[in-house]
Amino acid sequence: MVVDIIRPFFLGFYHAFKRTFTVKHPFVRLKPTDRYRGRVVLNIDRCISCRSCVNVCPNKALEMVKFEKKLIPQYDAGRCCLCNLCVEICPAIALSMSYEVEFSEYTRKGLIHTPDRFSQPPKPIAEKTVTVKILDKKRGVAHK
Ligand code: SF4
Ligand code: SF4
Repeated sequence: MVVDIIRPFFLGFYHAFKRTFTVKHPFVRLKPTDRYRGRVVLNIDRCISCRSCVNVCPNKALEMVKFEKKLIPQYDAGRCCLCNLCVEICPAIALSMSYEVEFSEYTRKGLIHTPDRFSQPPKPIAEKTVTVKILDKKRGVAHK
């Protein structure tokens, strides 16, 4: 009983001296790993309008629209669950997952990426990024 009362204080005190893991986002960002799944990006020149990505998308986040006399997928970032299925199925390697995760908008319409916008490269990562590195078990994870 007494132990249950003391334990939270002890744990709080113990963690007060551990390394901090959080960063001051958005001034500092954690560096995304190579396999990070952010917003999908299209390479229009490679797209062969096969529609496979539209068919495979579980959330109906893609639809074919007319763009420069071709049918090209349009992307609804508000529907995308970043599952990577469209990237995997694309036979022309025209789609890729970028590291960009900050693409919120004030309106639903603002989340629609027309082919032109869909093919824009992700915004550059903030100047100050830190990489997570694993220390020994006692000290936990930290930043470089
Ligand atoms: S990542 Fe998944 S949800 Fe997003 S557009 Fe591709 S298939 Fe659809
Ligand atoms: S699967 Fe690839 S090539 Fe086919 S429509 Fe989608 S982006 Fe274009």
